[in-house]
Amino acid sequence: MREAGMAVGRDNVGNLRGRYEGASPGAATLLLGSHLDSVRDAGKYDGPLGVVVAIAAVQRLHDAKARLPFAVEVVAFADEEGLRFSSTYLGSRALAGTFDPADLERADQGGITIAEAIREFGGDPSRIGEDAWRAGKLLGYCEVHIEQGPVLEARGLPVGVVSGIAGQARYLIRFVGMAGHAGTVPMHSRRDALGAAAELVLAIEAEAASHDGVVATVGQLTVQPGAVNVIPGEVSLSLDIRHPDDNVRVERARHILERSKEIATRRSVEVSVELLGENASIPCAPRLVSLLSKAIEAQGTPAIQLASGAGHDLVPMSALTDVGMLFIRCKGGVSHNPAESVAAEDVAVAIDVLSRFLDLLAEA
Ligand SMILES: [Zn+2]
Repeated sequence: MREAGMAVGRDNVGNLRGRYEGASPGAATLLLGSHLDSVRDAGKYDGPLGVVVAIAAVQRLHDAKARLPFAVEVVAFADEEGLRFSSTYLGSRALAGTFDPADLERADQGGITIAEAIREFGGDPSRIGEDAWRAGKLLGYCEVHIEQGPVLEARGLPVGVVSGIAGQARYLIRFVGMAGHAGTVPMHSRRDALGAAAELVLAIEAEAASHDGVVATVGQLTVQPGAVNVIPGEVSLSLDIRHPDDNVRVERARHILERSKEIATRRSVEVSVELLGENASIPCAPRLVSLLSKAIEAQGTPAIQLASGAGHDLVPMSALTDVGMLFIRCKGGVSHNPAESVAAEDVAVAIDVLSRFLDLLAEA
């Protein structure tokens, strides 16, 4: 950041922030960035790639001794993944002003709290409120990130514009039938909870597959009593369903839950549904989507839009300012895995696109 001409500082929560001033003092600021933390046994690019692409774009301005009509601040966020403290977006929530001080008491597996960890590297946990953005008008926040999915690779494109973050809901569905002896209860008089759950798992898959953009996953299945020679009396399954349009997601989820009731009635078992959590979708700002698209087309590449099924720092940042996002193609769509890989040529395209985006924003 220093070599790229930025004034560098670290805030209390641990975000590294580099600022490249605009042509005149008091100008608005554009935020760029991504996160530096990762998951266990991760790849090299999820997060840090977005930080270095942003630094490279500022480096070009610095090398050309160019100043934009706005300041650019590159933020390398701390703790997006939340692995150590089972938290989410600690760094970006501090900057967005939505950090919850109660989180400071969360402890890692070794009993060290977030407050202690912050003190250890020289931050002051009692002053995280001061990390919130208050340096004047913002033009938006723009993040570059690997796609973590296979869409760009399948389309043969190096980069794509994110239209928004898909909304998500998680449910726990429980079927209760009657446990019984595997050898003595005839098939026609069974109330097998797993039979009902199995039907629903396939119905969920079919429902998602027949509606464009819907993804639905059953990732947990608990069978009780869980013995080889006992008819399953009770089965719980999770449902994770996502779509960029909240209305579509809610409608598909309603349909799936109706199916669960129909299956339960037909099989003489009981079903109950619990909504565990729900996040609304977050649209990217049309103005930033449009400028990123123009910046891609200026490289002679078609600009496609795709929704992100994963969350990113732009989720909390959307509470502060307009957000935009550029995805870079990754090999095989693999992420959160040491095999995570990007092509150097694609990264070069992303730096060109981000540089052009800055120019277009300056002209807008
Ligand atoms: Zn990430």
